[in-house]
Amino acid sequence: MSDNHQELHARSLTELAAGLDGGEFTSVELTQSLLERIARLDGQLNAFITVTADEALAAAERADEARAAGTGGVLNGLPIVHKDIFCTSGVKTTCGSRMLDNFVSPYDATVVEKLDAAGAIFLGKSNMDEFAMGSSNETSYFGPVNNPWNAECSPGGSSGGSAAAVAARLAPAATGTDTGGSIRQPAALTGTVGIKPTYGRVSRYGMIAFASSLDQAGVITRTAEDAARMLGVMAGFDARDSTSIDHPVPDYVAGLSKSVKGLRVGVVRQHFDEGLDEQCGVRVHEAIAVLESLGATTVEVDLPNLDLSVPTYYVVAPAECSSNLSRFDGVRFGHRAENAEDLMDLYCRSRGEGFGDEVKRRIMTGTYVLSAGYYDAYYLKAQQVRHLIADDFKKAFSDVDVIAGPTSPTPAFRLGDKIDDPITMYLNDIYTIGANLAGLPGMSVPCGFVDDLPVGLHLVAAHFDEETLLQCTHQYQQHTDWHLACPEAFK
Ligand code: GLN
Repeated sequence: MSDNHQELHARSLTELAAGLDGGEFTSVELTQSLLERIARLDGQLNAFITVTADEALAAAERADEARAAGTGGVLNGLPIVHKDIFCTSGVKTTCGSRMLDNFVSPYDATVVEKLDAAGAIFLGKSNMDEFAMGSSNETSYFGPVNNPWNAECSPGGSSGGSAAAVAARLAPAATGTDTGGSIRQPAALTGTVGIKPTYGRVSRYGMIAFASSLDQAGVITRTAEDAARMLGVMAGFDARDSTSIDHPVPDYVAGLSKSVKGLRVGVVRQHFDEGLDEQCGVRVHEAIAVLESLGATTVEVDLPNLDLSVPTYYVVAPAECSSNLSRFDGVRFGHRAENAEDLMDLYCRSRGEGFGDEVKRRIMTGTYVLSAGYYDAYYLKAQQVRHLIADDFKKAFSDVDVIAGPTSPTPAFRLGDKIDDPITMYLNDIYTIGANLAGLPGMSVPCGFVDDLPVGLHLVAAHFDEETLLQCTHQYQQHTDWHLACPEAFK
């Protein structure tokens, strides 16, 4: 490998694909260079729970052979990272928890299987909030992740490790999951691109369940074009996921070049009310102005029930998690307490020891809202409000193609600042949760900086219209260079 390959980490997935195709370097060389960066730099980030160096190099060798033989999929030889919520056969899947600290899945998640079949090389598993419950990566059993832009700040969560790895150029792409904002908020806080597709677009099979009616897999990259490449592989019907939807997968890359001329962009009045950092608001307005300068038109839209989305989510998500996490009982999966006196003691102590505080808080809240006597007042009511929120979006989409606003109310906050105040932490997701409650696709794209910390523009589209999100963000990135900025320590 010659000297000019030193800069491979700075290239996007698309650029790396072109380099591999052109024979400029091999997948083994590329994989080695990124593994070397991970070994050298991840100590500053804690973005990885597991690094699969040997497996990755072996896979890269196979990818190079496949290329030489003229076979190999669309991502052949390209290194990526998986959030540690996706089951990977033979490699530990912890979900950021003590409960699954030593869990090795006997099978691959569909997302893992598909990316593998396309030839992607997986470098390791990324750190995350415990069972994806959190907005700062601080609930991880493996410790918080540091934001590459400022090590004292959070990279967001729960896909904080994936976002930090991509922002720090340790990998060009990483998978993530988003139940209330866990792809888009960390993307915003680290200056990366994150897309949460329509509910049902990407299979949830083998993705450890948090809140099943809200969870959706997606991807974090540095460019919209890279996200389009990844999503094209990940999306599609899966008979093993009963909520997967059989809807044709368009060629996302082909749709990118379409101009945004005439595109109707909805600007939500409520998004710019109190609660939004003033400078973040300015950056977002500037980003919307760029779309206007490219021929998009803006229309003011109303989401009158937006302020109900956080309380609604914090009834629905805990309810579902209390049910999903009941499977961790010390018998079938994960941590088992020692010397149990009887079965009840085994359940209680295994769960007591295996779960962290935030997960316990959610399980208790969820069990409460589902209990006889409170079910109607909380759970049923939340389901009704969820419909109102979905209806608001439906109305808005009769006038606009895409809704634009901030991804997060503030830039990255300091580690430790919000962890003892759940309500403030929960309010971080005010702009992202609505899309989960309504099952809509949402995407965050870097749109500038406030005090040297990145800010994200958030876009939401109608069901199954990921194409418009990708097209719009791609066009935006063709005319801005925020996504090229690299944190100083990771150049
Ligand atoms: N921050 C939200 C929560 O704590 C969302 C997490 C997620 O999307 N997985 O539940």
